[in-house]
Amino acid sequence: MNIKNILAEDNFSKENLAYLLASQDEEQQLLFEKAKAVKEKHIGNTVYFRGLVEYSNRCNKNCYYCGIRNLNKEVERYTVTDEEVMQIARIIMENHYGSMVIQTGECTERHFTAHITDLICKVKEFSDNKIGITLSCGEQSQEVYREWFDAGAHRYLLRIEASNKELYAKLHPNNTLHDYNARSQCLDELKKIGYQVGTGVMIGVPFQTLENLAEDLLFFKEKDIDMIGMGPYIVHNQTPLAQQHESLLNENQRFNLSLNMIAVLRILMKDVNIAASTAMQTLHPQGREKAIEVGANIVMPNLTPMKYRENYKLYENKPSVNEDAEETKNQLEKRILSIHHKIGYNQWGDSLHFKNRTKE
Ligand code: SF4
Repeated sequence: MNIKNILAEDNFSKENLAYLLASQDEEQQLLFEKAKAVKEKHIGNTVYFRGLVEYSNRCNKNCYYCGIRNLNKEVERYTVTDEEVMQIARIIMENHYGSMVIQTGECTERHFTAHITDLICKVKEFSDNKIGITLSCGEQSQEVYREWFDAGAHRYLLRIEASNKELYAKLHPNNTLHDYNARSQCLDELKKIGYQVGTGVMIGVPFQTLENLAEDLLFFKEKDIDMIGMGPYIVHNQTPLAQQHESLLNENQRFNLSLNMIAVLRILMKDVNIAASTAMQTLHPQGREKAIEVGANIVMPNLTPMKYRENYKLYENKPSVNEDAEETKNQLEKRILSIHHKIGYNQWGDSLHFKNRTKE
């Protein structure tokens, strides 16, 4: 196989995708150059900000990799108050971010889902519909997804984490609450309702092969996903998966593999939104900038009030735990301008892929 021949193609087999994902040194540079060119041609060099609020760390689930899993009793549980959410909406308006992401653990109780509806309405009313809302609140019924959409949320992130069923089963308890098919169906339902749909996976997780990652890329393509958030797997010590830490690629390898995943995804799905995840920055001080350079175009500055951040650690060493909103914004702006990108202030930064797939 020759990387130049593979990159010259428009369609990629699983084997070719796995080959690209393994790129190193000169081959990796060729891969990155191609991804940069595709990005510039199809979506340009604008980066969009989404102000992130980690609304609640209460979760009914027990994913083996996650620091806020229900059975982790070391975590102090919290829910951000309505006043604090509105304060974040104010910060988003003042900083011209254009969008808010409300992320929570997975709770399906009616008082919780109704409260989210209420918050969506309040943020929309307060901002005169200027703030675009993305939700990341896990698996919910079709009715709840519809209610949130009708209230004004228009993008939804639900990471599949591993598109291969056997791998998924190794990362989650074997019960109906953690059912692969249910999760996959939720993605279909979100799309039917009219959301811009996002998903994603962990990269470098125990038991995962390059072929699994190639399958993930094909899964995104087959599901016609609009937005992708993926990042390197980082261990959280209070989780069952931490026992597998000896089988992991080292941090540098996981970081490089994540860059390759972003670059290959950009080449495969030219017009989707791709997030430069915080996990990238955990493994490399310029992790997010590097992700942007090879294909990402979305950054989610964390605006969660400081007092809660220690308790929303999905993994260890999460950055920005001690930075306040203003500091985060200034830092990010400087970093993005330094790599010759611009910031799409006051814009929702919707997925071009969504626009293309829904136009008449
Ligand atoms: S990954 Fe999400 S659903 Fe799973 S335990 Fe963590 S917060 Fe809950």
